[in-house]
Amino acid sequence: MSDPVLVIGAGVAGLTVAVELADSGVETVLVDRETSVGGNALNLYKAFPTDDCFYCFESNRSRPGIRKCFYRSALLDQPNIDLRVDTEIEEIKGEPGSFEIRLKQGPQYVDSKKCTMCGACTKLSDAFSLLSPQCQPQSVIFNPEKEDEGSSKAEEECPTGAIDLNAESSETTLTASDIVIATGYQEMKPNQVDEYGYGQYSNVITQLELAKILDPNGPSHGALVRPSDGAQVRRLLMVQCVGSRDENYHPFCSKICCVFALKHANIIRRERNGTDVSVVYMDIRTYDRHERYYREAREAGVEFTRGRVSEVNPLEDGTLDITLYDSLLDKYFKTNVDLLVLSSALEPSTGMTKMIEELGLESASGYVSPANLLDTEVVAGDHVYACGGAIGPAEVPESVTQARAVASKILQERMR
Ligand SMILES: Cc1cc2nc3c(=O)[nH]c(=O)nc-3n(C[C@H](O)[C@H](O)[C@H](O)COP(=O)(O)OP(=O)(O)OC[C@H]3O[C@@H](n4cnc5c(N)ncnc54)[C@H](O)[C@@H]3O)c2cc1C
Ligand code: SF4
Ligand code: SF4
Repeated sequence: MSDPVLVIGAGVAGLTVAVELADSGVETVLVDRETSVGGNALNLYKAFPTDDCFYCFESNRSRPGIRKCFYRSALLDQPNIDLRVDTEIEEIKGEPGSFEIRLKQGPQYVDSKKCTMCGACTKLSDAFSLLSPQCQPQSVIFNPEKEDEGSSKAEEECPTGAIDLNAESSETTLTASDIVIATGYQEMKPNQVDEYGYGQYSNVITQLELAKILDPNGPSHGALVRPSDGAQVRRLLMVQCVGSRDENYHPFCSKICCVFALKHANIIRRERNGTDVSVVYMDIRTYDRHERYYREAREAGVEFTRGRVSEVNPLEDGTLDITLYDSLLDKYFKTNVDLLVLSSALEPSTGMTKMIEELGLESASGYVSPANLLDTEVVAGDHVYACGGAIGPAEVPESVTQARAVASKILQERMR
């Protein structure tokens, strides 16, 4: 019998590879460093190109016409997937076709197989919380940094005995025939880009943080409010290309941030009546079918200025005074907004450099580079594949297509 396939990263791409392989009878170990599967898509509210709720993508296992939550449907009833969350890759050794991987799993304070999500522990201690109603495994999580007096009471009173506050990390080694890198991307924290005051002024946020505010399951239950004081946002300014296309940070274009910025602008204009939205840009790159988001934004009254923000000053009333340079008119303007939203660069996940080195792969700006640029982009090396955000900024449909290509490559190799 063949060794299992190791899939690193359980975002949309990694989940798709794992489910496709498992459905074809291939044993798959699916590893994620977070406590829930889903990756970035778990926090994005509505998705372009269909504007569907991100929680409810039609999974590849659903029958036509029946919507099934992607995160719930495929994993629970698939015995060929060995899911390990809260798990990091410590070391990769061995040969292509027979890799030896050392894994480290963080303390499993809550046994997800026993937790019924009754919520009793969350009422007793702030250290227990529910990441999202759609989290998978379906379980609350425990944050040891927030441990308080109620934590041990919660352990005693958990009706299913799911809590073990003395749990410790564990290490295991496994052999895998193939490795799939589906580690996605992370949004750059733009603290170091001085002119915007991110990290200093709480009403300067990123697009990912805006997505959380817009999410009905988020901290403000979907109300568009200022983080500083909860006041309603009446004027909002977005800035494009923060840390992207900039030799000081990332020289590449992050490709999808124009589209998701306009998606957010349109949601706000459609669903949050009365909020003015402006966008400051260098170029608007709404590639192929996504041009409609730009058209809709203009029709919905979103204002566009080609230029840059040169200064941000917070005022006592919680608003921000902003100085803008309009490069078409060659003039400076002043404006005042409640919220400044930065479209910050999408960069490779932490730890990618080490993984790329250990596997002897090529890198492009820190992302995994295809082994043969003129062939399929998903083959990264001998028995090593990559898909989704691990190759570079990618939307969900693209990530899913690449993930399916990976699964079919592995299946083809196994049938030889
Ligand atoms: C603000 C914003 C809005 C967006 N809106 C849309 C949209 O509307 N429509 C759309 O199609 N796309 C959208 N996207 C893009 C979408 O998020 C990506 O296409 C999708 O998340 C890519 O999935 P992925 O699985 O490749 O990566 P990710 O979602 O990044 O998942 C990667 C997973 O790998 C795990 N991981 C990383 N490194 C390791 C490691 N070393 N070991 C173990 N686990 C690891 C992470 O914890 C994560 O769970 C948006 C992106 C942003 C930032
Ligand atoms: S009390 Fe136990 S079963 Fe209930 S949510 Fe907490 S850990 Fe889960
Ligand atoms: S997609 Fe748009 S905002 Fe993002 S880096 Fe490219 S041009 Fe800039």
